[in-house]
Amino acid sequence: MSFTLAIVGRPNVGKSTLFNRLVGKRLALVDDQPGVTRDLREGDARLGHLRFTVIDTAGLEEATDESLQGRMRKLTERAVDMADICLFVVDARAGLTASDHFFADILRKRSAHVILAANKAEGRAGEDGLIEAYELGLGEPLRLSAEHGEGMSELAAVLDPIAESFAKKEAAAADAMEQAGLTPDTDIDVDEEPEEDESWRPSDERPLQVAVVGRPNAGKSTLINKIIGEDRLLTGPEAGITRDSISLRTEWDGLPVRIFDTAGMRKKAKVQDKLERLSVSDGLRAVKFAEVVVVLLDAAIPFEQQDLRIADLAEREGRAVVVAVNKWDLEEDKQGKLRDLKESFERLLPQLRGAPLVTVSAKTGRGLDRLNAAIVRAHEVWNSRVSTAKLNRWLIGMLEQHPPPAPQGKRIRMRYMTQAKTRPPAFVVMCSHPDKVPDSYSRYLTNGLREGFDMPGTPIRLYLRSQA
Ligand code: GDP
Ligand code: GDP
Repeated sequence: MSFTLAIVGRPNVGKSTLFNRLVGKRLALVDDQPGVTRDLREGDARLGHLRFTVIDTAGLEEATDESLQGRMRKLTERAVDMADICLFVVDARAGLTASDHFFADILRKRSAHVILAANKAEGRAGEDGLIEAYELGLGEPLRLSAEHGEGMSELAAVLDPIAESFAKKEAAAADAMEQAGLTPDTDIDVDEEPEEDESWRPSDERPLQVAVVGRPNAGKSTLINKIIGEDRLLTGPEAGITRDSISLRTEWDGLPVRIFDTAGMRKKAKVQDKLERLSVSDGLRAVKFAEVVVVLLDAAIPFEQQDLRIADLAEREGRAVVVAVNKWDLEEDKQGKLRDLKESFERLLPQLRGAPLVTVSAKTGRGLDRLNAAIVRAHEVWNSRVSTAKLNRWLIGMLEQHPPPAPQGKRIRMRYMTQAKTRPPAFVVMCSHPDKVPDSYSRYLTNGLREGFDMPGTPIRLYLRSQA
């Protein structure tokens, strides 16, 4: 398991010094390709028992004019997009500057995991700077001295649990691949064009399956009652789900829908102190059977740990996700709140990039039309298929724009790709040395697919396979 760490920050804070300390003599890659990557250094880092790739945005002068600042922004954004974690370095001796705030803004908007480090903090000279760094609003700064090697084990301690969570995700992805029948030696006919298959569209026999999950009191029951309205039709337990499961049938503009009511079953349990635990495991079960998962948040207490866990689970299970923020009728500053919510969403759930966020009031029914539309659209995207011809034209452009790296001088060749399955969309890229392709490059392709083929809010799986 490995991950990619980008070291970012304004010039002269000590990024290169830190890079060199982490990489030692193991500087493996210096990309010789034209384009932005020329300014990014990449190396194999070692820290305690951790092994990872580190990217450094070195070689930048302090931005004095606008074009340079634009370049700095671009380069930093590129590094952030390639990385799993960003280490944002400030200079504890010099104190914060406008540039630091400039970078902090980029990171807050764009990065999933930001670790703030106040460098040059050896001795007492850095004390004030260390305290000042809290102002950036990126949490507690880590006290570092890249030059003297201080704070390295603290850095390792912060990276460790994050690395572990990545390892778990990777294992889950491998499972998903196995479940999809994609073992490393499955033959895939890449010339095959997708048939115009419409069988996924909801029908009476196969209604669109929706689960509404969320913390107790988020308003799940209220929402489901409102959605189902008068047509409430209780259907019995689905075979293979659980004897307590309740699903409700309804129609939206003629579209058959089945909603799993986890709240209803929880309320039946009536065991107060078990409420929390029950609702979590009910949620898990519902996620497994749903096609679209609606993560319902309470606007007053959004994105609690439990919300994040279930949203992450839905993504890992490969479900389409719609985030609905409930009790919107109680919010006074709706615009400000919405801005905050979007910011938190991007920061806390980067794995769901592009997923719709809909504000609703289950009580008054406001926003439910938009919620229904978002669910139907998410289901469509989840089932979408891209032709092999289109994919390969797209791949050529992506490779040109940002060629894969050349580990040990061997350039990775990516020859063609195809979509292996839908629900969620999964793609296979045939390439040389699939094991050498950095995670950052896979992420570049995945994010590119999402944007290039308009697939917001659906998990996208990308498998690299060695060509025959
Ligand atoms: P970059 O532009 O961010 O890559 O910064 P450099 O790594 O080139 O470092 C800029 C300057 O800060 C150099 O003179 C380094 O020797 C110095 N420096 C780096 N880390 C430390 C540190 O931990 N303590 C002190 N006192 N100086 C450092
Ligand atoms: P569940 O535990 O997730 O099923 O939540 P409930 O549907 O039982 O709702 C919990 C509480 O929140 C109840 O008192 C509801 O009346 C209230 N509630 C639900 N939706 C809304 C809403 O949109 N606005 C307001 N103001 N209250 C709501």
